[in-house]
Amino acid sequence: MTANILLVEDEEALRMTLGDRLSSEGYAVDYAFDGEEGLRKATHLPFDLIILDVMLPRKSGFDVCRDVRQAGVITPILMLTARGQTVDKVLGLKLGADDYLTKPFEMIELTARVEALLRRAPVKTPDQQKVYHVGSLEIDVRGTTVSRDGKPVRLSAREFQLLRYLVERQGATLSRDQILKDVWGYNEDTFTRTVDVHVASLRQKLEKDPKQPELILTVQGLGYKLAS
Ligand code: CA
Repeated sequence: MTANILLVEDEEALRMTLGDRLSSEGYAVDYAFDGEEGLRKATHLPFDLIILDVMLPRKSGFDVCRDVRQAGVITPILMLTARGQTVDKVLGLKLGADDYLTKPFEMIELTARVEALLRRAPVKTPDQQKVYHVGSLEIDVRGTTVSRDGKPVRLSAREFQLLRYLVERQGATLSRDQILKDVWGYNEDTFTRTVDVHVASLRQKLEKDPKQPELILTVQGLGYKLAS
């Protein structure tokens, strides 16, 4: 299963360089551009690893790290610090980061750290394992795996996040605006087509007949809901 990585970095050039490299290594990468967005995504969406810059607008990486841990999220955190000072490293680790890299660093060093952190991903405790069954689907929220009739289905990070969102609200009608805001973090309603596109691709992968969906239902004029 593809590992989902959240990259919280405000510097566009570095974000793109890191994102491209991680994608080319086969990881699914999601982005946050400031500390508040990083915290919101880290505490609402399933990731296998969070790469967190220290110097961020709106909320520092240290504060994000502390708040993520206080929210009970145990996803490994790799902090990026521009300052090589020991005090920063110690503070980061004290606040719950698992490792740190000092900028500038070589890409190969980053990917090595990422691999190492993913290998020692936290052990799942029973109450953190959450497995949903919907029809012939099995959705393991913590393991971020989905299977249909016992066979694994490969979903993109966003498809998984959308499916998880739907299954955790099973039976409730959810508007496109609401889905977009909660899953994508957009506030404008100009991108609601994005939701339709992802619902369509989930149906393609999960429904027996994508044209006659039995799992992800359209509620005319309102939005979508997962069959209960
Ligand atoms: Ca920065």
